[in-house]
Amino acid sequence: METFAANLDAGGLAREADKSIPLITEIQRFCLQDGPGIRTTIFMKGCPLHCPWCHNPETQSRKREIYFYADKCTGCGRCAQVCTTGASRIVKNAGGQICAVDRSKCLGCMKCVEVCLSEARGAVGREHSMEEIVKEAVADLPFFKQSGGGVTLSGGDPLLFPEFSLRLASRLKREGIHVGMETSCFAPWKVILPLLGAIDLFLVDIKSMDAEKHQSVVGFPLEPILKNIRALIMSEANVRLHLPIVPGFNNSSDDFQAYVEFLRPFSGRLTGVDILPYHVYGERKYEFLGRKETYRYKGIKEIPPRELVPFAKALAECGIIQVSIGGMVGMGTQRGLKPGERR
Ligand code: SF4
Ligand code: SF4
Repeated sequence: METFAANLDAGGLAREADKSIPLITEIQRFCLQDGPGIRTTIFMKGCPLHCPWCHNPETQSRKREIYFYADKCTGCGRCAQVCTTGASRIVKNAGGQICAVDRSKCLGCMKCVEVCLSEARGAVGREHSMEEIVKEAVADLPFFKQSGGGVTLSGGDPLLFPEFSLRLASRLKREGIHVGMETSCFAPWKVILPLLGAIDLFLVDIKSMDAEKHQSVVGFPLEPILKNIRALIMSEANVRLHLPIVPGFNNSSDDFQAYVEFLRPFSGRLTGVDILPYHVYGERKYEFLGRKETYRYKGIKEIPPRELVPFAKALAECGIIQVSIGGMVGMGTQRGLKPGERR
């Protein structure tokens, strides 16, 4: 964990972002797994937790970073010419020469991205105005209406930017758009409370029910998260839980039993539960971000979904309305509700 944190601090993280306004890594349209219906997902850059299996590592730091795709680099040296800090320099390699990136010197100015003709560089995190985001979302309003979809604020964690998220959610709702929020729920309740009227669906992760494991692996205490989940449910917010299942971390029968016991008292109040088996899709992003050595899950096999069926059944048997393995897919609806409708 220290290595990872040290990497985040020293490893090429660029200029300090405005603490209250997130950089956006992506506005992804036609998403089918970030809430009901067809959705546009806004990925904000910055997360309070440090899950070592994270498949979106580009959203962990608040700061702007660069991707470097070594296999596209021609060694032309254009980046080194414009880089004023020495973060980009040309070095010899077996094929001639290539660019090397010293991320500890990178200011995130993006000059190298602008001049690279080979697309060997990519900016991770861009500024978007509120109106740009709203305009992008509103363009898909007919799809949202037809499918019961909407917009999901994601990341990273939108709760790191509560005022921005509240303003954005309120603005989207004025356009008649259903708004979901994917969050760790790791924030003081007073930060979450104002969002209750603006967020139609909270999609909340529980990484583990084991407080010690949570603290040592994720890097933060579990109890405030559970407390906030309980408070959300008691406030009659729509809550759908995500349970990421990670080999060697939380895939034992004891782990599954602990989830079932925790969820049983709330089962009838939850919108649903998605069991999300660990996957390797994010692995190469660590390489492109210069953090390859921090990725601890290299070579770890994915969990076949069929192995999670007994767990899914146990959750369904305690009365949870909708349980999925792999996440809700697009057009799914809840029992007794129209797509996108609040409970
Ligand atoms: S400008 Fe692009 S292609 Fe040229 S050396 Fe730099 S990263 Fe490589
Ligand atoms: S030119 Fe590229 S490598 Fe150099 S400081 Fe700017 S973003 Fe970083």
